[in-house]
Amino acid sequence: MKIVKILTLTLLLSLFSFVLKAQKPCLQQNTPLEPISQVEINQLKHIADEEKLAGDVYKTLFETWNLRVFDNISRAEDQHKKVVLQMIDKYDIDFIPQTVRGKYNDPKMEQLYLDLVTQGKKSIVDALKVGAMIEDLDIYDLNNALNNDVDSDDLTVVFSNIRQGSYHHIKAFTNNLKRYNEIYTPQYISQSEYNDILNN
Ligand code: MN
Ligand code: MN
Repeated sequence: MKIVKILTLTLLLSLFSFVLKAQKPCLQQNTPLEPISQVEINQLKHIADEEKLAGDVYKTLFETWNLRVFDNISRAEDQHKKVVLQMIDKYDIDFIPQTVRGKYNDPKMEQLYLDLVTQGKKSIVDALKVGAMIEDLDIYDLNNALNNDVDSDDLTVVFSNIRQGSYHHIKAFTNNLKRYNEIYTPQYISQSEYNDILNN
């Protein structure tokens, strides 16, 4: 009897961990399709490009400065990009995911990538400020999407989670700047929102 109990328990545990693992990549993959607007579609495309831009810039700046924060955060950006691409796939949106670093669905982003990398290669402090500025812009754009454009539950969850990631990232870049006695002044979000993020 005891063996049966142990076997049952093992089976239940492995089933449970299987379900957890299966859900982990993106919880929103299995939720029902909701009608989404053209503005929401445009936002998904824009955020997919922005997440890729962040990851691309951090990978290049990691290669330049070998500073771990860029490596860690670029991995998070890859995950963010993946989740947004899963939504683009789920909603069958016309979008060509680019795989080359510095290339985007929206060609206007290419110049931005080049400008940010040029700036970030000047010094470690410049690189960290570029990181903080990218997160500043991401939070600003996600605020705008969530406050004005997003209605579907899927997009609300995905964009809120990505924004949460950006809160961590802007904190990490700010803390790294502190080691060089430098501060970041927000260019997109307000100083008070920035302070709130740092204090949370
Ligand atoms: Mn991100
Ligand atoms: Mn980020």
